[in-house]
Amino acid sequence: MALSANTKDFVANLHPDNLRYLFYLVTPNETTYYTVEEVPQFITKVSGWFLILLILEFLVIWVKGHKDGFAYNDTITSISAGLFQQLLKIGGKTSSLACYMYVHEHYRLVDMPIDSSFTWVVAFILEDLGYYLAHRAIHEAGIFWSFHQMHHSSEYYNLSTALRQGAVQEIGVTFFDCLQSFVVPPPMFLTHKLLNTIYQFWIHTELIPNLGPIEFIFNTPSHHRVHHGRNPYCIDKNYGGTLIIWDRLFGTFEPERREEKPVYGLVENVKSFNQLWLQFFEFKYLGWDKGRMTRKSGQPLFPGFLNKIKVIFLPAGYFPGTKTYQFFLWRTKCDTGEGIPRVEKNVVKYNPHLSLQHKFYTFLQFLVVMFVYFNFLKVRQTLPWTTFAMNMLYMISTLQVIGMFFDQHKSAQKLESIRQLCTTLYAVYTFNWPLLFVSLFSECYLMQFV
Ligand SMILES: [Zn+2]
Ligand SMILES: [Zn+2]
Repeated sequence: MALSANTKDFVANLHPDNLRYLFYLVTPNETTYYTVEEVPQFITKVSGWFLILLILEFLVIWVKGHKDGFAYNDTITSISAGLFQQLLKIGGKTSSLACYMYVHEHYRLVDMPIDSSFTWVVAFILEDLGYYLAHRAIHEAGIFWSFHQMHHSSEYYNLSTALRQGAVQEIGVTFFDCLQSFVVPPPMFLTHKLLNTIYQFWIHTELIPNLGPIEFIFNTPSHHRVHHGRNPYCIDKNYGGTLIIWDRLFGTFEPERREEKPVYGLVENVKSFNQLWLQFFEFKYLGWDKGRMTRKSGQPLFPGFLNKIKVIFLPAGYFPGTKTYQFFLWRTKCDTGEGIPRVEKNVVKYNPHLSLQHKFYTFLQFLVVMFVYFNFLKVRQTLPWTTFAMNMLYMISTLQVIGMFFDQHKSAQKLESIRQLCTTLYAVYTFNWPLLFVSLFSECYLMQFV
């Protein structure tokens, strides 16, 4: 029953109208809502198209013979990160929306009419400017980088990279979202925030070349490839969401170089598919370890309590002697390429071997978690907290264990057996027969093949 309902929803969402949302091809009239509750779940509406386009892109890459265009472990990790981020939007509302509504309710400066194309256009521009500032802050303002580095942690650049999002990034951008709340009504803000996010899906591809005059105003695959590059010329460039004009205005624009194609990933790649580690390791480094670094002589690099606090908010690549200047509320490096190593001649991506049995097993668990997730989305607001918590625990632990298999972690199999045993007990306790079938099958498969 649930399977056929999910399939029906999936097919219904593959309407051409929903495809237009991917490119912001909408009119003010059709996307004006009077309450935040009325604003559609745009991300759910386009998720079918996301999947179709992902598959199409992989087919094209495969036919063209660009073997280096994607990897199974990387793609699953990216989609898992997107799913993880959506899971943390408790009750479907983001932290930024809750704050936004409070500030708008109590401190708004004007009452802009919702039923007006002018308001819609102002909201579009302010949202895009707010996104630019927020995106720049989560790159440059020290520990704020920890909220966002996950999005840059893939060494590949394809549509699945768009889904690789920081699980708690919303907390890092809340302040910047709220800047518009003095002017823009909440439903208008939410609509543009979602459409702006969705627009950024299609620009994560290597298949689309330079788009000529469009490149002048809009953010495009070419501009965003630079943003994901780890070559010195790419660092901290092209922060735009839908428009690229903010980068041109504030001096962070950099065109893609034909003679030096971007090489993707973090300046120092993490070499792990462990979902929780990938999401949170940088908080520890920037919030604690960096302030305690020492010189070769053993002297502290950042002596004294105040310096240790200061360095938490200075750019991630800042070290004594690095020149910075003030931009808006934070300091930014004068030379963003300073201290960034040149890209090695033969780039070897992190890609540990995975046996066919492991591939099948991890893919099965991934499919199950996707199915549980889409069901959970529909009912999560009505679930008792225990069922809610068990669903969350099941999904997050599945994503975590998949990553551990990808890393060939020595405890992966042991942990997975314990997890499946707990799932079996829970399935019996709640009379959840499909879950019981899946967990028993998984246990047998684990014992037999993995
Ligand atoms: Zn970024
Ligand atoms: Zn991106």
